[in-house]
Parts: sequence; structure tokens; C-alpha cells
Amino acid sequence: MSTTGKVIRCKAAIVWKPGGSFSIEEVEVAPPKAKEVRIKMVATALCGTEMKMLKDKNLQHQHYPIIMGHEGAGIVESVGEGVSTVKAGDKVIALFLPQCGECTSCLNSADNFCIKLKQAETHLMSDGTSRFTCKGKPVYHFGNTSTFSEYTVMDEISVAKIDAAAPLEKVFLVSCGFSTGYGGAINTAKVTPGSTCAVFGLGGVGLSVIMGCKAAGATRIIAVDINKDKFEKAKEVGATECINPQDYEKPIQEVLFDLTGDGVDFSFEVIGNPETVAAALASCRESHGVCVIIGLIIGVQLNISGHLFFSGRSLKGSVYGGWKGRDGASKLVSDYMAKKINLDALITHSLNLDKINEAVELMKTGKWQVTHTIFMSEYLGPREMVCGGGGGQGSHGWRSHIQAAEGSFRNLQKISFPYAFCFITTL
Ligand code: NAD
Ligand code: ZN
Repeated sequence: MSTTGKVIRCKAAIVWKPGGSFSIEEVEVAPPKAKEVRIKMVATALCGTEMKMLKDKNLQHQHYPIIMGHEGAGIVESVGEGVSTVKAGDKVIALFLPQCGECTSCLNSADNFCIKLKQAETHLMSDGTSRFTCKGKPVYHFGNTSTFSEYTVMDEISVAKIDAAAPLEKVFLVSCGFSTGYGGAINTAKVTPGSTCAVFGLGGVGLSVIMGCKAAGATRIIAVDINKDKFEKAKEVGATECINPQDYEKPIQEVLFDLTGDGVDFSFEVIGNPETVAAALASCRESHGVCVIIGLIIGVQLNISGHLFFSGRSLKGSVYGGWKGRDGASKLVSDYMAKKINLDALITHSLNLDKINEAVELMKTGKWQVTHTIFMSEYLGPREMVCGGGGGQGSHGWRSHIQAAEGSFRNLQKISFPYAFCFITTL
């Protein structure tokens, strides 16, 4: 029996209060309304942004309980009225950056900051309500996505249809981390062949910046991190040198000047720390160095000497690597399928959603050499499907839905068909 039009009951990781940890709960996910899409998540990840949300008071708000998660991919379960670009069974990437196709940014080929991104600030769908409830309470959405739920509801404009043959447990990385870093290098900085680059912060996003610098033809890529366990992977994806600021008495910008003679052509701050932004900018060549801020810095003033700009340096922001949401995600998945990009190095481990708090701890300590941890588990899909006011339909209904979407699952051999959930974190 189809789940279309019915409430689905499934598992989700909820944060109940600011600074709290994740709690695995059974939630109800309402059917999609007009121009909305309900998705069965197959792969998701814990990004540096969630880590900041959990610990950084400047990023904490009053929208609790909440289902976080903004990096993920899945399969469309059903669509609301008026949805024309995806249908049940389609493989899709969840996007925190929508592409409405109508705003001034969407209509400008050089811009990607769709104005509809601001919807995320309400932590609700565009009609001002939530599609999630838990223990009788509405639960807030996050980032237009809420991927830490077996099922989520998103706006059609935040969903990118991708190649039906794409392995979701790999390509979900284009949902945020990979695209942000890789695009930050090739679209925002426009790294040039033969150039020298410095990348501050070697999480999944920083490693993707290194990949972008390498693809753009940079000959020297200096990776900077206070955790030396990150260096092996950084070299594997293209760093030519790795340095730890704690190994030096001088400021890191002076170390980079010593190493390069006159600074780097491009630097990237991929941590989200005002002090490392200042250091990354000061590491650039005086005449034309470009520093790109990718790390999330909210609610904090930057303290940067104006003198740094006098000679011609520039400082740029970058969201989602400069890609337009839907177009960029679909293109990058096609590039993966055409073997133009390789995401495999970013994935090393797997855990299931129940272990999400362990993933947080691993990310905090960051002492592993690995970069990403994939978590796949055998989740039992929706335990129950609730018809409006009626009783549950049991898992039988879910099986029929899965059969309908069987073609889409065919490539997920690594995942235990059909009840898969994959969870990834950046270490
Ligand atoms: P992460 O936590 O996995 O990686 C951060 C890295 O920085 C770690 O390896 C850590 O050891 C290192 N680090 C911390 N302090 C340092 C210091 N003082 N000097 C040198 N290295 C230091 O995070 P991630 O998932 O790779 O995300 C990186 C940043 O990108 C976060 O701030 C995240 O919010 C942001 N982000 C931005 C966008 C965007 O569109 N702009 C999208 C996704 C993520
Ligand atoms: Zn738009």
C-alpha cells in the first residue's frame, strides 16, 4: 500500500534544547503540501556546521526541539500538489541552498545566493508550519533540509534530481561538504594553474578545497591544521606540504611567507574562526592574494587590519562553493558518474543513526586519521503509516513503496536493501 498522503512514523535524531545532544525518537512526518517533496533519506552526514550549532552560543537560537542535518541524499517518496520537477522514486540531493529560479540571484548567472535560503531562518516550511511532530509537539526544521530523519519534507526548490544510477552513499557529499570546498577553489577563488594555495582547516570541506585547488592546476598546496592526524589524508587528496601552527613560535602567516617567499596566491579559511581568517588573509601575496572565507562565522566581528588591503589583497565569502543549488548538485553528480571527480577518499567509516552522539564525540576529538565516517544501518523504514485518523498500516505498505522505487535502489548494493540509512561525519 502506498504511503502517499499519509503520515509516516519513523526515527529521527532530535535536539531538544540549546547545547543538548541528539536523542533518537520516533517522529511523525506529515505528507508534503503544495510544492513540497517527502524524501526517504539514504545517506546523511554531520558537518562542521552542526558541530558549531551544538556548541557555539552565537549560533544557538530558540527553535527547539529541532531536527538538524543538511548534508544528505535520498529517494522521493511522494510529492505535493504542483510539483513538476521530481516524482516518487527519483534519486535526489537535499540542498540547504535552494534554487527558486525566479529571484535576482537565480536569474544572475554569476550569483548563487537564492533569496529563498532565508526561509531556513524560520525553521518552518513556507506556510509557517512544521511537517514533523514528536510526542505531540511540533518539531522545527533545519536548513531547509532536516536530514537526520529517516523521512523529511523539503521544498521542491531545495531538491536536486540526479542520475538514477548514482550511488547515494557516495554522491550525497555534493549536498554540502564536497561542493562547498571544491567550488570554493574553482568558482569563488578561481584558482589559477601554477599557483600556490594555503588551506586552513582539514575537515571534509578543507580537503575538498584541496581537491579543487589541485583540479584547477595549483602546483603548491599547503595544508594547515592544528591536528597533525589530518595530514595523511590531506596529502592523499593533493596537499604538497602540511604544517601545524603549533610547531612554530612565529605566527602562521609569517611561516607561510618564509615558505613561499612572498605569500600564497590563494588562501582558504575552512574553520570558522575569526583569528584564522585574519591569518589566512595576511598569508596572501600583498599584490593580488585572494582569501576566501568558507568557515561559518556568525555573531562575531572580524578584527582585521585595514592595512592588509592597501596593496591589493582581497577577502571573499563563499556559500555552497558558488554553485547554484540544483544545477550545481546535478552537474557534480554527473561529473562523479563520468569519473571527473572522486569522492571516495572522503568516506572511510560507517555508523548508524543511533550512534550520532558517538559521531559528535569523534568529530570533537578529531584524533583519527580518517576524514569521513559513513554510517549505514538496517533501519526498519517507517514502523507504521498513519492514515488520517486511522490505524497503522504496518511495514507491508512500506514494502510496496520500496518495490515501486526498486529501480532506484538497484545500485545501492552496499546498503542492506531496502531499509537503509547511512550517516556520515567529518572527522
Ligand atoms: P571540521 O570541524 O571537520 O574541520 C575543521 C578543521 O579545522 C579541523 O581539522 C580542525 O582540527 C581544524 N582547526 C580548528 N582550529 C584550527 C586552528 N586554529 N588552526 C588550524 N586548524 C584548525 O569542519 P568541516 O565540516 O570541514 O567544515 C569547515 C567549516 O566550513 C565550518 O565552519 C562549517 O560551518 C563551514 N561550512 C561552510 C559552508 C559554506 O557554504 N560556506 C558549507 C559547509 C560548511
Ligand atoms: Zn532564487
